[in-house]
Amino acid sequence: MKTEAKATKKSSIKTSALLALEGGLPVRTEPLPWDYPGASFIDEEELELVTSVVRAHSPFRFYGPQAQHMVDMLEHEWRETFGHRYALGVSSGTAGLTVSIAALGLGPGDEVMVPGYLCMSGLAAIVRAGAIPRLVDIDDTFCMSPDDLKAKITPRTKAVIYNHMCGAPGHIQKIAELCKKWHLSLIEDCSQAAGASFEGTPVGRFGDIGVFSFQLNKNMTSGEGGMVVCQDHALFRRLLALHDLGYPRTLNGALDASREHEQLWGIGARMAELSGALALAQLRKLPQITSAMRKAKWAIRKGLAKTPGLTFREVPDPAGDSGAFLLLLLENAPRAKYFTDALRAEGVCGPPGSVPCVALSERSLHWYCNIPSLVHKRSNSREGFPWTHPDNAFACDYSYYKGTLPVCDDYHERTVVLTIAPTLKEQDIKDVTDACQKVARVVQSNCLRQ
Ligand SMILES: *Cc1c(COP(=O)(O)O)cnc(C)c1O
Repeated sequence: MKTEAKATKKSSIKTSALLALEGGLPVRTEPLPWDYPGASFIDEEELELVTSVVRAHSPFRFYGPQAQHMVDMLEHEWRETFGHRYALGVSSGTAGLTVSIAALGLGPGDEVMVPGYLCMSGLAAIVRAGAIPRLVDIDDTFCMSPDDLKAKITPRTKAVIYNHMCGAPGHIQKIAELCKKWHLSLIEDCSQAAGASFEGTPVGRFGDIGVFSFQLNKNMTSGEGGMVVCQDHALFRRLLALHDLGYPRTLNGALDASREHEQLWGIGARMAELSGALALAQLRKLPQITSAMRKAKWAIRKGLAKTPGLTFREVPDPAGDSGAFLLLLLENAPRAKYFTDALRAEGVCGPPGSVPCVALSERSLHWYCNIPSLVHKRSNSREGFPWTHPDNAFACDYSYYKGTLPVCDDYHERTVVLTIAPTLKEQDIKDVTDACQKVARVVQSNCLRQ
């Protein structure tokens, strides 16, 4: 048998240490639990709130036969929990980013700085508004590098979208200081980081606007949904108008077209009461969800601390990490690929469709150079707007091809991501740690023998 032949050939390795990928025994055989953080906590509480909306025949937030005010309550509890002055429920994170860019009045002639490791939603919001995205490299936090941002600011630069990628802030404080100094608007894309904070301040409070998503993969979920937060009243009024039909509403829920500067073009991104009900129940569980993930993640990370050949994404404030992802760096691309395959073979895998272990290069639509609409400067309209707009001529030689951001390009190739389910048990945590150590040891000893 092939596996036996391999086993004898590698007799220098103890049988117990033989990788499952090479025919050895796997660390575990039972699938890990599903890694949709919020969804795994859905129970009677969600059901009760959703049911009350259905029974009341009132699925619209602004009025109805017996309006249940789920979205109002969600916004209220959100403000109380995180200290955001204003909070507005929206239909998705993407919609939240779209209204944010519009609320800031950005358009042709403006440049918005974005990190090279991001979600295309922010790019879409910029491009649809007619502005130009400018790429900024990341640092070892996997978030935007303050140094690269500083080096790239031009008179065209009007705003920054900062992504709290993979559940934890990077150097957000430094970015906020730079934005203040250069009079740039700052949007925090907190879609992956509900419940995260930096040195005690919740995310979304460093910038002018913060945007959260409640899509299924996020820390809390209502299937579809999101939250936009800000501190400034006038900005909030614009967000309110834009997320609806272009106008804010009166107290009884009617559209209010009385103020000239609030007569805008809306995008129809109101939050539904059913989503509000789900999100409200989830918000109440968020501390439980994030603390379970944070504990599991840091137990694994500490268990791997001195493993040769493995390094980690830098998390400047571990206490503020929402814990959803553990990022491991191997020394090069082939080792990252081998490590991932070997880890899955050891049983670090979940039910079909779940992805607890991937090389980042496999799931790579979050990297600038793998987003075709960016790389090829696509347009939704026939004539190529906004790339062809005369006010955007300054950006005609901007490139989004691979090679633009060296740190992104390097990390993209050699990072392995472990998605941390909040339902991991002690044994799961031990197995994942053991499997990583086992595989890392073999990867390292293979390379030393070469
Ligand atoms: C998920 C996500 C979004 C988009 O949120 P939707 O609710 O799916 O529109 C935006 N930005 C980041 C960083 C995300 O992870």
